[in-house]
Amino acid sequence: MATETRLLVTGSRTFGPRTTTWDGRTVGDVLDATAVDAARAGHAGLIVVQGACSEGADKVADGWAEERRAAGWPVVSERHKAQWRKYQKRAGFIRNELLVSLGAHRCAAFIDACIKPKCRNKPLHGSHGAEHCAGLAEHAGIPTTRFYTAVLHEALAVAAPVTDLSARRDDAANH
Ligand SMILES: [Zn+2]
Repeated sequence: MATETRLLVTGSRTFGPRTTTWDGRTVGDVLDATAVDAARAGHAGLIVVQGACSEGADKVADGWAEERRAAGWPVVSERHKAQWRKYQKRAGFIRNELLVSLGAHRCAAFIDACIKPKCRNKPLHGSHGAEHCAGLAEHAGIPTTRFYTAVLHEALAVAAPVTDLSARRDDAANH
């Protein structure tokens, strides 16, 4: 029996439905292409595994899955909400570890610039939660693509590599 493609989606809270990647694609565009690839590969469908954040890329991916499912596509959304009350600031990171541990064929990370007011990391860099999740996925051997917004893509092209974000886990609560 054909298996389903598991696509782990992570991303910044500021990555909305109309936000585009540096090469002009929305989250929906990328997910459409992934669903088509899954079908071409003979997979039974697409499972969008994500962190059920109330805004940003998770939300967009969830909405995309619902919309496509309603249209008859073999697509489902698998939601793993962070337990903020239980784990507080670490909840997002613990949830990311869970997402990655569940396994995926691919990871798509939609990353916008960090807008944490107190963040001292310079220069411009990706939001910590999304970078954290993408890094974990990569480390676990999941083929991962980072879809940066144009402003971030340009900044990263000229900037030195970002400092080690894993060292900042405790104070980086935002997704
Ligand atoms: Zn930051």
